[in-house]
Amino acid sequence: MKFNTKTIHGGQHHDPTTGAVMPAVFQTSTFAQTSPGKPIGDYVYSRSANPTRTALEAALASIENGAKGLAFSSGLAATDCLLRSFKAGDEIIAMDDLYGGTYRMFTRIYKDSGIKFHFVDMNNLDNVRSLINENTKMVWLETPTNPLMKLADIAAVAKITKANNILLAVDNTFATPYLQNPLDLGADVVMHSATKYLSGHSDVVAGALIAKTAELGEQLLFQQFATGATLGPMDCFLVLRGIKTLHLRMQRHCENGEKVVEFLSNHPKVKTVFYPGLVSHPFHEIAKKQMSGFGGMVSFNFVSGKKEDSVDFLEKVRLFTLAESLGGVESLANHPALMTHASIPEDKRKEVGITDDLVRLSVGIEDIEDLIEDLRKALE
Ligand SMILES: *Cc1c(COP(=O)(O)O)cnc(C)c1O
Repeated sequence: MKFNTKTIHGGQHHDPTTGAVMPAVFQTSTFAQTSPGKPIGDYVYSRSANPTRTALEAALASIENGAKGLAFSSGLAATDCLLRSFKAGDEIIAMDDLYGGTYRMFTRIYKDSGIKFHFVDMNNLDNVRSLINENTKMVWLETPTNPLMKLADIAAVAKITKANNILLAVDNTFATPYLQNPLDLGADVVMHSATKYLSGHSDVVAGALIAKTAELGEQLLFQQFATGATLGPMDCFLVLRGIKTLHLRMQRHCENGEKVVEFLSNHPKVKTVFYPGLVSHPFHEIAKKQMSGFGGMVSFNFVSGKKEDSVDFLEKVRLFTLAESLGGVESLANHPALMTHASIPEDKRKEVGITDDLVRLSVGIEDIEDLIEDLRKALE
């Protein structure tokens, strides 16, 4: 099955009793049994499994080419579930530019439980090789990163992790499986903030893990069941509905993203545009190798270098909504240093390049002429 068919049919079947094309929203916490320990169907209690969640999890596994998909109450809940696989003394190597909430969880929750984190520039893989020791248990990639669009070469990192028997996890939120398939490139597990492109309509907070092997899937399933941050039936339905149009939305996000980049690149007030599709982007070659397009996420800063210019721009945009989050049908604009990445200490932020004049755009699927006009006016 090709990707554009998988988004609609992957792991799905009609309801056997009614023929319903979409699964019902099984808004129930529990399921009747005929005799103690003998449920009528396959379900017992909705924390362990719920039919609407089962349908979504099958779709997730299908679109990411994994053996097992798991749906969580948020992207961070998915990451949290994975991190419970590790114990004090274990070491994890992560990229030095990460979603702020992921960085906060690593450094403020799990560091205190004795897990050691190393944040490295994955541009030079010797940084990874030199850190690996017998305690190293996982490499965590986010590619492209939020908000600087840094990339990591997934296949090259996978060679290192495989040779050392280390787990490779990839946050695939920005690219989505429409553009990039980490499990095919050698990763063991993919994480998503399904809040973003997978659901695509800014109407749900959700997360996902997709394991390459059934064995890892079983282990994560146990952790999910035992800790309980599962996604509710209605939210599962919404994410599943979103996935059905993922390919169409992503196609338009990419087209609009490229046009916005072209406009910004030629604007006298704009200094640097961060977008993996730009030939000048430091990771463009890797992007061409492992992504089939470049997406709708675009960041840029100002020639003036002034925070006031970025704030002024963000107060003036009309079609672009000033808001956190990304990946919805509507265009959003965000100030990473003041909003999504405010939890990263200022010196760390500056070190990786999240300057006070940086703006991040999530280019939606509206008419491109209207979007450009909005940007043009806001930059006047
Ligand atoms: C939003 C986001 C997350 C966190 O997901 P939530 O659904 O908000 O918990 C993780 N990684 C990336 C890249 C994100 O954009």
